Amino acid sequence: MDRQWITWASQARRPVAVTGAGISVPSGLPTVSKTWRGLTLKEIFTIGFYRRDPLTFYDCYRDMLLDWREAAPNPAHQALAKSNVRIITQNMDGLHQKAGSSDVLELHGNLRELICERCHALYPSHVAEINPQPHCPTCAELLKPNIVLEGEDVRHIAVAADWVGQADLLLVIGTKLEMEPVCMLPKIAGQNGVPVIPCNKKSEVLLPELCGYLNA
Ligand SMILES: [Zn+2]
Repeated sequence: MDRQWITWASQARRPVAVTGAGISVPSGLPTVSKTWRGLTLKEIFTIGFYRRDPLTFYDCYRDMLLDWREAAPNPAHQALAKSNVRIITQNMDGLHQKAGSSDVLELHGNLRELICERCHALYPSHVAEINPQPHCPTCAELLKPNIVLEGEDVRHIAVAADWVGQADLLLVIGTKLEMEPVCMLPKIAGQNGVPVIPCNKKSEVLLPELCGYLNA
């Protein structure tokens, strides 16, 4: 491993990690480039597609739930949890929490829940496994998976910016952070003179080693 990384890691007291789809690939989860019935997940998981064709959307969502239920955290998730690193994630899979992380901001929501857009009640996502188009028992509105679709605003971005503002090391794992507004997170670190360690490949190998230095 890069000597500079080891120095940064061993000096860090308030590390924050921003994670994306790449960290969960070794757990068997797909990225948005996966195709489903000839369409990519990126094309399906948009607010426009959901509004136009919720039935097809839910078919795809149910298949994602199958992958998700079988997925377990890999050594990268486990290393971050063991070192109590604060996590800002673009993932919806909940694997950081399954690994034992408690400070987790889910910028894109989660696959655990469905939400009623009218009364904001939450329901467990397995409701969608027994009902092709689940509706809210209270107000009869179609329930929506509690995930952020393309075309919707990401969540918790102000808190995420605050966490990065307090950090003394930023890990960027399994994501390139090219999109607005998440691209501002490494910029905040840069403005504060905080080192940024990118880790886009082999995070399940690199992070257990790197996090060992965080514990030192
Ligand atoms: Zn409702």
